Amino acid sequence: MKKFISFNLIFVLLLLCGCSDNKENKETRMMLDTVVTLTASCSEDAFAEAFTICESYENLFSKTRKGSDIYRLNKATDFIEVSEETAGIITDSLLYSKISGDKFDITVAPVVSLWDFENSKMPSRDEISSALENVDYNKIQIQGTNNIFLNGAQVDLGAMAKGYIADQLLKHFKLKNASKGIIDLGRNIVVFGDRDYDVGIVDPFESDKTAAVVTVRNKSVVTSGTYERSFKKNGKLYHHIIDPETGYPAETDLASATIIGDSCVQADALSTICILVGKEKAKEIVQSFPGVNAVFIDTKGNVSYTDGLAEIDGKIVIK
Ligand code: AMP
Ligand code: MG
Repeated sequence: MKKFISFNLIFVLLLLCGCSDNKENKETRMMLDTVVTLTASCSEDAFAEAFTICESYENLFSKTRKGSDIYRLNKATDFIEVSEETAGIITDSLLYSKISGDKFDITVAPVVSLWDFENSKMPSRDEISSALENVDYNKIQIQGTNNIFLNGAQVDLGAMAKGYIADQLLKHFKLKNASKGIIDLGRNIVVFGDRDYDVGIVDPFESDKTAAVVTVRNKSVVTSGTYERSFKKNGKLYHHIIDPETGYPAETDLASATIIGDSCVQADALSTICILVGKEKAKEIVQSFPGVNAVFIDTKGNVSYTDGLAEIDGKIVIK
């Protein structure tokens, strides 16, 4: 009997320790070329580890960090071995290229590099034409699972990497028994835990305002917008999502597209695709993915959404 009581006492104490350890942590850091804010109810160690994970992926996917998989691939003159994770994203990107009618193309990298959004500088037509010569996702050759040769092309995982990393952070927090939290990698958001979260969608025309609110639980909410990394010249908006056919920012009737789904990397790719293909085709593509929804804000400011969503008390919810 005595043994039983002391065992129970230890068990209760362990539970109490678990509770005090599972406090809410929140921290913002500039990384992954964006503002990363993590909020999680977990141990301090598990929380700190999450930022280390971000850092390790930056070392893998960055196109400017020497020695990263992408840096090495873009310089290689023959097949090289990359991590299975990098290869997995590149392989998946090819599927999104097909789905988007060739508009989504990670080999658009050399053209992306020409556009200087920070200093509002656009490249010359000649520079764009010569950079376009090597833009073609069909150049990507994959042997086995993770031996890749780009054959003169260069890749940029900017449209998918943050979503992928957010998925990995969610796995990490779950493994560490985090009870709830928000992973926010610059408009790539994952909320988790046994509660609803209201996620605001930025007004593309006044970025300090919210154009709509979605209420979700255990979902990824990813927004791509033509207002991010952009500048205006002679009244025309030049933004960072590039049409691989022209080398110029995609001519689109969408100012922002927000994807709501279970996979953040899928939502990341799809939100970029929506901007590239425009509202009508975007709705068709998103609705072909079961359980995935989208909120669109067009260039006139109209808010619309896919058939799986509804509005209740001014908030957008999953039906
Ligand atoms: P996102 O902010 O997720 O919509 O991704 C935009 C980023 O994806 C850009 O900053 C580029 O790095 C990259 N990108 C631009 N145009 C394309 C494209 N047509 N296909 C794939 N990636 C692109
Ligand atoms: Mg994206």
